[in-house]
Amino acid sequence: MADKLLAVKGMNDILPGSVPRKEKLPDAALWRWFETTVQSVLARHGYQYLLTPIVEPTSLFVRGIGEATDIVEKEMYSWSDAMNGDALTLRPEITAGIVRAMIEHNALYNGPLRVWSMGPVFRHERPQKGRYRQFYQLDVEALGYPGPDVDAELILMVRRLWQDLGLVIGQHVRLELNSLGQPAERAAHRAALVAYFEAHADQLDEDSKRRLHANPLRILDTKNPALQALVEAAPKLLDHLGPETRAHLDAVCAVLDAAGLPYRINPRMVRGLDYYNLTVFEWVTDHLGSQGTVCGGGRYDGLFEQLGGKPTPAIGFGLGVERLLLLLQELGLPMPSAAPDAYAVVGDPQCLPQALVALDALRAAGVAVQMHAGGGSIKAQFKKADASGARHALVFGADELGRGEVAVKALRDAAAPQLTRRLDAVAAWANELRTA
Ligand code: ATP
Ligand code: MG
Repeated sequence: MADKLLAVKGMNDILPGSVPRKEKLPDAALWRWFETTVQSVLARHGYQYLLTPIVEPTSLFVRGIGEATDIVEKEMYSWSDAMNGDALTLRPEITAGIVRAMIEHNALYNGPLRVWSMGPVFRHERPQKGRYRQFYQLDVEALGYPGPDVDAELILMVRRLWQDLGLVIGQHVRLELNSLGQPAERAAHRAALVAYFEAHADQLDEDSKRRLHANPLRILDTKNPALQALVEAAPKLLDHLGPETRAHLDAVCAVLDAAGLPYRINPRMVRGLDYYNLTVFEWVTDHLGSQGTVCGGGRYDGLFEQLGGKPTPAIGFGLGVERLLLLLQELGLPMPSAAPDAYAVVGDPQCLPQALVALDALRAAGVAVQMHAGGGSIKAQFKKADASGARHALVFGADELGRGEVAVKALRDAAAPQLTRRLDAVAAWANELRTA
């Protein structure tokens, strides 16, 4: 036998829930339900769907995300195209590609746009629960709006998504908020930060020493536990914010307060990408260990210009799909059932043509029916019907078909009588089978 081929490390198959597996990963039915829920929430808020390529020029991310970030320094899958030497990268996030596309197509010519996309992104990190090398992001962007109205709406939209998914704010997820101010405010803070870290240079690790002058803000984003106390006592950007920045933050908070959404101002939140200013936020959970951030975003008013476009205010967020679905699975919240409405038992192969015609009519009427394929005894077929989770079995036997009928048997209600239904009037009784 040839050697088994395996998936690339850190890149996962998302499988039907009925397939047992070793690692904890979301199952595909949950995944589909999430997509449907997201689609509905975004449509209700006026967001339009779009898709951009998974491969982009490397320079897009170097310029967009920032050179001294974890992503650009060590997490990107980059290569030189064998045909023409172009420097290419598998996208590590979706925002930069969307902004590139908006500039390329002059998409904001007629005014601002609210858009969203969802798909795989790639980061070369150490794989563990909730951290993979290929993972999926829901990416949502409000482009051309200066805020703070749209900032608040965006955050409240995420709350609507949590609620539609059955998550409880405060218990399962909570909101952290900060302002990264404007460039001049950050410059003042940066000077204070450099002075502080220079005074404690002996305590810094290698990454932080390198970033001390290139991008000292990044040191605040360190994952090194040995640096936490030092980072905790560092000068706060919040203390360097001017009145306009404060007013922007206050306006966002006023809406959240009015909407009864609790939040915590976290002055240490800097986010893992360089392009943010003003409002930044994260939704975190305590149920996933150290991979606790399920959604993070913020305002990036400078990114369009940085990527060669006209100055354009914008805000958006990325949501880690696997992390969120792991959270839903972990919490054991009720999910819509993936079971079919009915399971078709076909006793005699000669009944098959008539059975399939009847099943097609049922499906046309919106019923989810799983046909037993591959033959076998009636007993064995009923066992499968039971295991499928269906509420009804449709029994196609020669006698019933001879009378133009099918037998309908309730699988989850022992007291229910067995019924027969006419095959020439499927539409009249199809609804009896539907679960929801
Ligand atoms: P972290 O601090 O956990 O590394 P991040 O700040 O790098 O997260 P973002 O760039 O903001 O993450 O990406 C948005 C979301 O994508 C995160 O909030 C998280 O839910 C998810 N995410 C980030 N990296 C991974 C990964 N390697 N595997 C799975 N999900 C991830
Ligand atoms: Mg990261």
